[in-house]
Amino acid sequence: MTKKAFKSESKRLLELMINSIYTHKEIFLRELISNASDAMDKLYYKTLSDENLSFNRDDFFIRIDADKEKRTLTILDTGIGMTKEELEENLGTIAKSGSLQFKKDNEKLEDVDIIGQFGVGFYSAFMIADKVTVTSRALGADEAYQWEAEDTEGYTISSAEKESVGTEIVLYLKENTEDEQYDEFLDEYRLRAIVKKYSDYIRYPIQMEVTKTRAKEDNKEEFEEYKELETLNSMVPIWKKSKAELSDEDYNGFYKDKFFDFEDPLSVIHTSADGITSYIALLYIPAHAPYDYYTKDFEKGLGLYTNGVMIMDKCAELLPDCFRFVKGLVDSADLSLNISREILQHDRQLKTIANHLQKKIKSELAGMLKNDREKYEIFYKNFARQLKFGIYDNFGRDKELLQDLLMFYSSSEKKMVTLSEYVSRMKEDQKYIYYASGESIEKIDKLPQTELVAERGCEILYLTEDVDEFALQMLHAYEEKEFKSVSAGDLDIETEAEKKENEKKKEENKDLFLFLKDALGDKVKEVRASSRLKSHPVCLTSEGALSIEMEKILNAMPHDQKVKADRILEINVNHPIFEKIVALLESDKDKLKQYAAVLYDSALLIEGLPIEDPVAYTNAVCELMQ
Ligand code: ADP
Repeated sequence: MTKKAFKSESKRLLELMINSIYTHKEIFLRELISNASDAMDKLYYKTLSDENLSFNRDDFFIRIDADKEKRTLTILDTGIGMTKEELEENLGTIAKSGSLQFKKDNEKLEDVDIIGQFGVGFYSAFMIADKVTVTSRALGADEAYQWEAEDTEGYTISSAEKESVGTEIVLYLKENTEDEQYDEFLDEYRLRAIVKKYSDYIRYPIQMEVTKTRAKEDNKEEFEEYKELETLNSMVPIWKKSKAELSDEDYNGFYKDKFFDFEDPLSVIHTSADGITSYIALLYIPAHAPYDYYTKDFEKGLGLYTNGVMIMDKCAELLPDCFRFVKGLVDSADLSLNISREILQHDRQLKTIANHLQKKIKSELAGMLKNDREKYEIFYKNFARQLKFGIYDNFGRDKELLQDLLMFYSSSEKKMVTLSEYVSRMKEDQKYIYYASGESIEKIDKLPQTELVAERGCEILYLTEDVDEFALQMLHAYEEKEFKSVSAGDLDIETEAEKKENEKKKEENKDLFLFLKDALGDKVKEVRASSRLKSHPVCLTSEGALSIEMEKILNAMPHDQKVKADRILEINVNHPIFEKIVALLESDKDKLKQYAAVLYDSALLIEGLPIEDPVAYTNAVCELMQ
C-alpha cells in the first residue's frame, strides 16, 4: 500500500504545530474528546431530521481505555463516524475542518454547538504518540476504514473491521525520554484528572474502566482488585443550571472545590447575557485575599469555557484590574477561537464581556455595602487597597466607578464611613472634605494639625494606608467637594476675624519669622504663624500637591530619586514658647538659632519623620533644660 503524503501543508508545518501551538501536552485528550463529542452532536442532529434513525441516550458515550502493556491509549466514540473520503479529507489535510464544513452544509444548526472549527486539534495526538490509527465507520456505511500515520511523513488508509458506527482512535505512545514520561498518560488517576480539568462538562458520558478493590467473596480478610466502568465527567456544568435549581451549598461547594478555598465566598454572581456576545458567568467575591494577593506572583483571571470545554484556566482579559480579586468563569459559545483553543483571537468580544462583568461586580459590591454593611466591611478589610489602587491606576480612568465603594475611618463617627455619608453630614458652610494622614488611627488622633478642623466641628477622614492620599488626590473631589488635608498650607477654614488677627501677627513678627527661616536654611520653605494650632507649639505643613505623608511613602520605595515636599514650619503664636522666642530675638540670637533647630526637629518627630542629627537634638534639649 502506498503511503500518501500529508496534503498541501508541509511536514514542517505539522511538526511546528505539534510542538508549539499547545503549551501543555495533556490537552491532546481534550482535543480528542471534543472531536468525539462533536461527532456525537452531529449524529444526534441527524437523528432529529431523519425518522429512520433511532438512538437511545445510552447509545452516546465516549470510552477511554489505557493498555499499559501495549503502551496504547484508545479513545472510542459512538458518533457519526467518517467515510473513507472523510478520513482522507479531514485527517489528511491540516487545517481542513470537517466540522466547519458540516456547519456550512447544515445552516440551521443553531441548537448544535460544535467546538472544533479549526482543523488542527486531532494532530495534537502526535505530541504524545508516534503512531496513531483511526478506525471509523460512518453512519449509513457498510464498511469501516482505518487511517494510520506513523510519523509526520504521511498516512495510509485501508479497509477495516468495525461493528458499530463511530470512531476509535488508538495512540501508540512515544518512548519515555529523560524529560517526558509519556506513559503518565496511561495512568488512571492522571487520565481522570485531565478529563475532570478540561472536559468535565462534555454532555456525553466519558467512561473508563477503573481499578477498585473489594473483600473477596470467600475470604473477607483478603482483598481483590476488579474493574468497573465509571463515568468520569459530571456532564452538566453548575453554571448552566438555573438559579432556582441551585442552593447556597451548591454554589459555595463548587467555589471551594474549584478555586481551592477553605472559606465560603462573600458573594456569588450568576449572570447571563444575550446579544452580540452571549455568555454565562459565575463569579465569586472571596472572603479573604490569598496570601500572595498583593505580590506579583498573583495571577488574575477568569476561567474561560466554550460549550462546557475549558479553553483557559485564567483568562486575564475577562477581568478588569480593579476587581482582580474576583474568582469565577465565563462560558460563551460565541467566541471565535483561532487555531489553538488556548489562544484567543477576538479580543474585542472578551472586552465586551469584561465591560459587562465590571458593571456587574460594581453593582454587587454597592448592593453589599448598602444591604449588608458587616459583610462589606469584611470585604473592605481585604480588598480596600485594591480599590484604591484601581482609582489611582490608568490616570484615574475607573475612579467614577470605584469612588462610592470607598470607606475611611471617621473622626466623629469613630467607624468606617463612605464619602457619600461624609458629604451628607457636611456643615452648610463647609467647603472641603477634610482628611488627615498617618500611620494609625491613634497617631492621627494626636496630630496637632487636626486641632482647628476638629474644633470647628468638621468630620475628618483618617488615611492610614499608603495609597490613600494618592487615591484621594486622583479623585480630587467628591460631589464637587474638594479633598483637603488638615496639614495643607492653606486650610481655608479660619473666620475673617481670625484671618485678620493672623495677618497682624505675621506683620508684627515679620523679622522673627525671617530669622527663623534663615536659621533653618532650605529645610523649610517658610516659617509662619499658625492659625490651626490650639494647644500644641509647632507643626509641619506642606504646600503644593506633594504632602509630607506622600513624601514619606515615595521615598520609602526602592528607587534612587528622592522627593521633598515644600515644608512650612507653623508656630502657635498663642503658646508660651512664642513669647520666649520673641524675647530671644532681642536678647540672644545664638540661642534663638538653637530654639529654631529644636522646634523644627520636634515638628519632624510629631510627623514621624527621622531627624537629621538625633545627637545634636538631644544635646540641645539638655542644654536648654539646664
Ligand atoms: P477540528 O476538530 O478543529 O475541526 P481536527 O483536526 O481535530 O479539527 O479534526 C478534523 C476533522 O476530523 C473534524 O472537523 C471532524 O470532521 C473530523 N473528526 C475528527 N475526529 C472525529 C471523530 N472522532 N469522529 C468523527 N469525525 C472526526
